[in-house]
Amino acid sequence: MNEGEKKVVSKMITLYCHSKHKQGKGLCEECNSLNNYALQRLERCPFGENKPTCGTCTVHCYKSDMRSRIKEVMRFSGPRMLFIHPVEAIQHFYRESKRKRLK
Ligand SMILES: [Zn+2]
Repeated sequence: MNEGEKKVVSKMITLYCHSKHKQGKGLCEECNSLNNYALQRLERCPFGENKPTCGTCTVHCYKSDMRSRIKEVMRFSGPRMLFIHPVEAIQHFYRESKRKRLK
């Protein structure tokens, strides 16, 4: 479920961790737990495949500390994704804007 979103989230966290925490290969412990948390939230998302991207979601299923961490990751990695993984980034933002228009 939400495989595309999962990939994008993981890539954003990896990008953030590599740029900010410089752990070399893999994620640092903190980012690894954030990554697991984000994937678990996507897995359990009540909207399933029709979910809005987490930035526009109305449920806000994240705990507040995880929420502020993922927000920082998105702010950092969002614009960079366009250069590194343009296709996935565009799909992600396209889904987001499409859902905004539906409201
Ligand atoms: Zn990290």
